[in-house]
Amino acid sequence: MHKLLLKQLQQYCKDAGLETQQAALLQAISDSYDQHELDRKVLDNALVLTSKELNERTLLLRTQLRTLSDTQDQLQKSLTALNATFDTTGEIILALDNTGRLLKSNKMGKELLPDIAKYEGKPQAISWQNVRKMLLNPWHLSEMTDALQKQPSAHIKGTLHFTNGRIFEYHSLPQLQNDTLIGRVWCLRDATEEKKIEEFIHHQAYHDALTGLPNRSFLLEKIETIIKEHPHDDKKIAIIFLDLDNFKKVNDTEGHEAGDQLLRTATKRMRNCVREADVLARLGGDEFVILIESDISQSGLMRMSANILESLAKPFLLNNHNHFISCSMGISIYPRDDTAPDGLIGKADMAMYRAKKMGKNNFQFYSEELERLALHQLEFEHNLRYAISNGQIEIYLQPEIQVSSGKIVAAEALARWIRPDGTLIPPVQFIGVAEQANLISGIGRIVFDKVCAEITRWKQQGINNITVAINLSAHEFKDADLADNIQNKLLEYDVRGDNIVLEITESLFMEDKESVLLTMNQLRAIGIRFAIDDFGTGYSSFSYLQDLPIDYLKIDRSFLIDVTHNKKKYAIARSIIDIGNHLDLQVIAEGIEDQETLDFIIQNQCGMAQGYLMYRPMSRDDFLALLLQKKAES
Ligand code: C2E
Ligand code: MG
Ligand code: MG
Repeated sequence: MHKLLLKQLQQYCKDAGLETQQAALLQAISDSYDQHELDRKVLDNALVLTSKELNERTLLLRTQLRTLSDTQDQLQKSLTALNATFDTTGEIILALDNTGRLLKSNKMGKELLPDIAKYEGKPQAISWQNVRKMLLNPWHLSEMTDALQKQPSAHIKGTLHFTNGRIFEYHSLPQLQNDTLIGRVWCLRDATEEKKIEEFIHHQAYHDALTGLPNRSFLLEKIETIIKEHPHDDKKIAIIFLDLDNFKKVNDTEGHEAGDQLLRTATKRMRNCVREADVLARLGGDEFVILIESDISQSGLMRMSANILESLAKPFLLNNHNHFISCSMGISIYPRDDTAPDGLIGKADMAMYRAKKMGKNNFQFYSEELERLALHQLEFEHNLRYAISNGQIEIYLQPEIQVSSGKIVAAEALARWIRPDGTLIPPVQFIGVAEQANLISGIGRIVFDKVCAEITRWKQQGINNITVAINLSAHEFKDADLADNIQNKLLEYDVRGDNIVLEITESLFMEDKESVLLTMNQLRAIGIRFAIDDFGTGYSSFSYLQDLPIDYLKIDRSFLIDVTHNKKKYAIARSIIDIGNHLDLQVIAEGIEDQETLDFIIQNQCGMAQGYLMYRPMSRDDFLALLLQKKAES
């Protein structure tokens, strides 16, 4: 029994009987107290345990909370770093969801593409229609969306050209969550400057710095591309190879700067003659090529070439002097003449060479015949060289009369090539070739020799009053020793200078005027006089009539053919005679074939005449016989 209860019972229940009866009860109560005590002890124990567990849990929770807070801090730091990176990167970054809404844009995006970045956080998707309007290459957007429709998780890239001039290169990556596409991230890089530099370098590599025209590489690639695009020869391309005549002379006499200026001016003039779609390229030096891609007829090509000839024949003002150049052109056609870019240019070049040989300032179409001619030309040159050194060059003499008296006062020496078989080749067939092949001085020396020999022969027959006109080409004037050589020859034959008239043409005045004047004055000092041959057919400028020592004007035959029936020719011929007379020059009418023309020049006070009506060119012996006959008659 519980001690406390027993004590209490002993105090209050002194009756032994009762004591016994109550003992069981008391025992039961005592047991229940014991039980209670036990229970309380168990409860106490349990409480202690629970409290301990609670403490432990609290501790754990605290630790976990701290870790969470640390993680949160770290997360915040990472986010800040991420945002900073996001904003400081030079690229535009745009994050879009699957519906095309802009979830986030970085600072660069807001700065450079404000019209797109303004959609950030908005419920509506970016309007591609608006973006398309901002592009110079809107088709690229369609290609891109098509590609994404076919393969939504594709990694794509490309270039967008904006109407404000900026160029962006982009790449776009899919954003996946548990293998599910939830959107896309777009990175755009402003490549404007880079592209400009790239374009500049490309331009430099494919263009000529002086004129800004495409160069040979560009031209070859362009032709190659066209040919590749039309492999079945279903397209015609024309190539015009153009080479300026007399450019080197301007460059040498006026300096390189003037030469450069001439090339730029010539470029502008040529540009004006070709169409927008045609490619005008400079191969280098004074060589240009025009590539005509669009279909153009033969007559169209001829018109274009004629326009170019005309525009380049106009004077070029350099260092305050007018300079005259012309050009020679050759034309080849794809696929007729060649099917390779190099071949086409080569054939046009060959045709150009032919145009040069034919006296410059003209154009030629390539043909197989032309190729044969080029070969023939080489052979011809070779034969001419042989003819010059083997006595096959002869002179014929054509009398010139004084109109008032009808007397022979002069003769023009005209070169002839007499082949061993007796065939006679006229000068039009070989003078041009001789000029091109640097053989003209050789011919000039032979003519001069023969003229001097004839004058000596006439003298021996008592004929002293015949002047002989000798044709001198501009090429011969280039020889600095010309005056000395002529003077020596006159001394050798004992011929007076005033027996000789040198016929020069207006083309000579396209040469360096100073040196021409020097030579002319040297020759004039020994009595030689000058005639302007074919007057009016060249680049007539009256200034040289004033500045240069000229004595004769020869009216070109072209102005006298049909002169009495053609009002314009009538006016020109009369004016030339008037100019000559007013300047105290002897005027000689060339190519008089009929009485009507002779009457015209008589009426108009032309001093001298030459033509088939009076006499044809004749051999030296025939001429001497004629002179002797005239002498006997007088
Ligand atoms: P050019 O100096 O104008 O000579 C006049 C040409 O007209 C000559 O032709 C002559 O035969 C021709 N002719 C004269 N009268 C008449 C006529 O009534 N009717 C026609 N249809 N023709 C007439 P050619 O001898 O054939 O000489 C042609 C050109 O060759 C000359 O034209 C001259 O520029 C050049 N030439 C001739 N000989 C020489 C030379 O020794 N040196 C140089 N550099 N050129 C020469
Ligand atoms: Mg002449
Ligand atoms: Mg003439």
